[in-house]
Parts: sequence; C-alpha cells; structure tokens
Amino acid sequence: MNNFDELLAAVPTGLWIGGRQSDAAEGGVFDVHNPATGEVLASVADATGADALRALDSACRVQGEWAATAPRVRAEILRTAWQLVTDRAEDFALLMTLEMGKALAESRGEVAYGSEFLRWFSEEAPRIQGRYTTAPSGNGRILVTKAPVGPCLAITPWNFPLAMGTRKIGPALAAGCTMIVKPAEATPLTMLLLAQVFADAGLPEGVLSVLTTSDAAGVSGPLMADPRLRKVTFTGSTRVGKVLIEQSAQQVLRTSMELGGNAPFVVFDDADLDAAVDGAMAAKMRNGGEACTAANRLIVANSVREDFTAKLTERIAAMVVGPGWEDGTQIGPLITEKQRDSVAELVDDAVASGARVRTGGGPVDGPGWFYQPTVLDNVATDSRIVAEEIFGPVAAITGFDTEDEAIDAANATEYGLAAYIYTQSLDRSLRVADALESGLVGINCGVISDPAAPFGGVKQSGLGREGGTEGIEEYLETKYIALES
Ligand code: NAD
Repeated sequence: MNNFDELLAAVPTGLWIGGRQSDAAEGGVFDVHNPATGEVLASVADATGADALRALDSACRVQGEWAATAPRVRAEILRTAWQLVTDRAEDFALLMTLEMGKALAESRGEVAYGSEFLRWFSEEAPRIQGRYTTAPSGNGRILVTKAPVGPCLAITPWNFPLAMGTRKIGPALAAGCTMIVKPAEATPLTMLLLAQVFADAGLPEGVLSVLTTSDAAGVSGPLMADPRLRKVTFTGSTRVGKVLIEQSAQQVLRTSMELGGNAPFVVFDDADLDAAVDGAMAAKMRNGGEACTAANRLIVANSVREDFTAKLTERIAAMVVGPGWEDGTQIGPLITEKQRDSVAELVDDAVASGARVRTGGGPVDGPGWFYQPTVLDNVATDSRIVAEEIFGPVAAITGFDTEDEAIDAANATEYGLAAYIYTQSLDRSLRVADALESGLVGINCGVISDPAAPFGGVKQSGLGREGGTEGIEEYLETKYIALES
C-alpha cells in the first residue's frame, strides 16, 4: 500500500475555493471508499451551500478580468495543465483506479483521453471567431461577436472522474468563463488533484473552484438560484438532468446536459464477425460497462447470432476480474454495492423472462463490489435489461431478421446517445446511420469518443455537445452589433 499512501497524501482534501485550499468546511468531511476493498481511502471536505456561494463570490470577482485575458494566455495555461497531467499520468491513473475501480490500463487510457480536452481547447481559445457582413438591404452592417457566458457550474459523474471534468473545464476556461466544479461524491479525489495541477499551471486565483460534497443538491441549489451564475453543465443520469433543467428555468440558465444512454450495437449478416466481436468487447466491456456509451443492447442478425454469441462468450468468459491495480486485471469492481445489486436485479429479471446465461450471471464473492462478466442470449425485447441502462459488464443479446426491424429495435428507446453498426456495405452503413436517432454513430468501430469530435445525445440523452469545434460554443454568447452605414 506504500505507493498508494504516498499518492493519497499528495491529493488536497480540503475545500478548493478560488484556486487554493480554503479553511476547513463547516460541513466537516466525508469518506471516499475503494470499491475493490470497501476500505476508506481518504476523507474530503464536505462543502455546504454557504461554501458554494463563497466559491461563486470568488468566481464573480475575477470573471471580468479572466474574460479580458488574452486568448493566447488562456491557451498557454490550458496547454501547461495538459502537460502537467501528462507528466503525472501514472498518479492520475492510479488515483482513478483506487477511487473508481477501473483497471489501470483503462485509467491510463482515460488520462490520455481526458487530458486531451485541455490541449484541444487550448488550441480553440485563440480561434473564437465572430463575423462581419453588409446587411442585405445595403443600409447597414452586421457585426457578430462572441463573449464568455460567465460563471458556470459543472456537475460530474463518477464513471470517468477526470474526463468528465476536463471536457467542461477545458472549453469553459478557453472561452473565458470561470467555473465551479462539483465532482461525484464517490470519486472526488481525481478532480482535487486536477485542481492542484491548474494552480501549478498558473491559473489565476478565483477562476476555478472544486467543491466536494455529500449533499449535491445543497451545493447546486443555492448556486443555481443565484442570478450571478449563468450556466450549468451536467453529466449524469437523465433523472437528475431533468431536475436540473427544471431548476435552471428559475434564472434562465444556459444548460448543457450529457445524460443517460441505451446504446444499440447492431451486427448485420454481412459484418466481419471477428471485427464485430472486437468492437463489442470495447463498446460493452470498456470501463466495466459503466459508460454512458456502453453497448446496452446487442442486436444481432439471426443468421449470424449463434456464431457471434459463441465468439463473444469465449472472449468474455476469459476476462480477468480483480482489483484494478493488479497486473492483468481487465474488469474491476462496480462503483458501489447498490450499483452491483442493480446489475444483479436486471440480470435476474432477464433470466426470469427466458434469457439464457452463456457465461457469468452473478456477483463475485469476497470484499469489493465485483460482478462476473456476463453474456445473456435470447433476451426478451420487453425485459427491463433492454429498456434500462445496465451500467455493468453484462452483454444482452437479441435477434432480428430485416434491416427495418434492426432500425426499429435500435430506436425503440427514449435515449439517443451512441449507436454502433457493423456491416461491410457502405450503402447500408450510411443508410442506417441516417436512420438512427442518436447523437453519435460508430460504423465498424467500438470506441467513438474523441476530444476533437462533438459528443452528445438526442432525445432524453441530453442537450448540447462537448468536444470538437462545437464544444466551446456551449460557453459563448453571441452578440449582434448593428452599424448604420
Ligand atoms: P447521477 O445523476 O446520480 O450523478 C451525477 C452527478 O450529479 C453527481 O455529481 C451527483 O452528486 C450529482 N447529483 C445527484 N443528484 C443531484 C441533485 N439533485 N442536484 C444536483 N446534483 C445532483 O449519475 P451517476 O450515477 O453519477 O452517473 C451515471 C450516469 O451518468 C449514467 O446515467 C450515465 O449514462 C451518465 N453519463 C452520461 C455521460 C454522457 O456524456 N452523456 C457520460 C458519463 C455518464
């Protein structure tokens, strides 16, 4: 445990207000657990609504100055932060594995992916553009400028403790906004270490606060009711997203909502089956299945279903389950006992409705919240596991006969975040991609996310986009200035 202790000792655990540790929180502290052992890793400050308003005071004090800071200077700070995260990649990776549970190789992948949002948006900061045209009537000129939205609140989930923060902080700071981040209660340590990195990178005081709390609504409520806050950006469940959208109406806040998913993974009869199995392993098992983009429903042409299922079962049955920091581990624990119980409930319900367990099918005994990598075949299309987000290492397979049936099945959900299709036909790829009600479509690829591409959902999967050239727009207001000619 030595290098664990050393790492944990380097993480600030106090209130992080305006870019530095502040006095002890009145709210006391709360414990952060290691999901692989159930042991306490650290105790962190438990912020209150009053602390949140102090963070907003601090953001408002410097908002004007930060907005007026040269884009190149903002860019250099973001770029330095990217470099510092990269230099400390092993620390960030181990910390995420300890507090969230994912295998170390996956945590390393998240460090590369998550830090890239800082580099990408450092490159976007100097490219914020407006426009200038002659009015069509010839009687005037149209000048369009962009300005930062203002102080923002970011609320992030536990499944990607670094990346879900950087893809909000990166564009906000690049645009000239100040930001208060409220990380998930289960995984606050990664965001606190990132806060330290920003201080080391020379981010001016006041611009960034990180409020860890066991009372999310107690912190977000007073902030969202305060007219000085101008935006809330959220990643998490659709249920909480809807609450925040309602609350944001009070002050008519800008909102970005990255919510739940129920991704279809469609394998057509003309697919390269080995490639489809590789893709399904990535789309389903990455992050232990705890991803909003996780392939929740494997919808496979009946003519190749048994072949595909047999190959996938062999791969999933061979996966190594264990604490994320151990060599060779591919699947770590689920985040909490509650999450493990909810996965078990969905599997039991599917089996009761006729699904066949091809491998796995139950929790793993012992300390920690492990669940066996599982494949279910013959899943009834009206079972809960098809309708709800599984958020665990369970592949649920259903069949189809025609392309229209596959499209209807894929779209039969209130969600619309990611979708995957496997086919060797270019015509079919594009036809089906057009027909899918989804913000992201992967064609013959099992990992879609890229900091340089717009990420976000349709239907109840959310509003707005993160990443790409679109991502910074979420933090900018458009102003039209009319000029008399
Ligand atoms: P969650 O909605 O329970 O929590 C997310 C965040 O919201 C946490 O920080 C939590 O403390 C906070 N929160 C909870 N209740 C709140 C309230 N009443 N007011 C203010 N804040 C509140 O979600 P989770 O279980 O942490 O994360 C899993 C969910 O996130 C899944 O549904 C997943 O699909 C979704 N997710 C979406 C994306 C995406 O980009 N679309 C990415 C990752 C995860």
